[in-house]
Amino acid sequence: MAANRLDGTACAAAIKSELAPRVSAFVSQHRRAPSLHILLVGDDPASHVYVRNKERAGIETGLQVTVRRMNADSSREQVLGMVHQLNDDPTCDGILVQAPLPASLGRAATQDVFDAISPVKDVDGFHPLNVGLLVQGRATLMPCTPSGVIELLERSKIAIAGTRSVVIGRSEIVGKPMALMLLQRDSTVTICHSRTKDLAGIARDADILVSAIGRPGFVTPDMVKPGATVVDVGISPTADRQLVVSLFGVASERMVGFDKKGTTVVGDVHPGVWSVAGAMTPVPGGVGPLTIALLLKNTLAAAESRAAR
Ligand code: NAD
Repeated sequence: MAANRLDGTACAAAIKSELAPRVSAFVSQHRRAPSLHILLVGDDPASHVYVRNKERAGIETGLQVTVRRMNADSSREQVLGMVHQLNDDPTCDGILVQAPLPASLGRAATQDVFDAISPVKDVDGFHPLNVGLLVQGRATLMPCTPSGVIELLERSKIAIAGTRSVVIGRSEIVGKPMALMLLQRDSTVTICHSRTKDLAGIARDADILVSAIGRPGFVTPDMVKPGATVVDVGISPTADRQLVVSLFGVASERMVGFDKKGTTVVGDVHPGVWSVAGAMTPVPGGVGPLTIALLLKNTLAAAESRAAR
């Protein structure tokens, strides 16, 4: 039997429609919309697409979204200057610096920029203060992708307490916060990564298996406990026909779409897992739409909590 499809698009739409009355209440009380400022440095084409999607979704939800564009050769001081200006602007509620920053800035400068964002406007939840609060289970602003996964699980009535969960991937933006959020909900959590021994054996123990590594088809059916909930965070755009055939089969619907566009987006989880899992997120249409919905939710939460101070 095929796994239940955990529909991220529908879940994201529900979250956004729940935000609408809160946005209206904010507007009537403060005579302005909650505002999100996105800092986009450089010309990375994928970043431009992501920012456009965030801008569109924010405007649809009634937020004021301002995109601040800066040249790829902007210096550390110029980018920091912009962040400080936004920190000091009382009408700015949320600041998002679109990653990645140009490689020419270097790692240390990139970290400085993210650390400079005021924690109360840090709608990505990456500031060390917010990460610390997340560890202690009392954060307001938390990373959007893992928060979206939790919303999807809870709204789909998937029990978390008492389960064993396995998170594959240990990044600061997905793997680590995902593990903390599951732990806070009383799951027994294991984090796997590129140096984990017997990853397949550990994964097979999971009632909830989350993969966030960006390796197409990495999680195969033999790595999944029958009936488990499988969340595929991975997003890998590909133009590799061979890969798509190997994952979906030559006569699949996915190949029809691929042959029209020449590209598709694939997840970390092999499509064969649909026949083993109890519930599963598709790619696309799973975790992706939730990340943006949670960004909007964080922006509103930041606006409300600053206004209440
Ligand atoms: P990252 O590159 O920062 O981290 C990848 C992690 O995967 C690392 O911790 C690494 O140890 C682990 N890893 C790599 N190869 C592995 C292997 N063979 N076995 C076990 N672990 C391995 O990536 P990230 O930013 O966390 O993103 C991960 C994936 O999630 C990417 O595909 C990214 O596009 C996607 N993503 C999706 C969303 C969304 O909205 N759906 C948001 C963020 C990231």
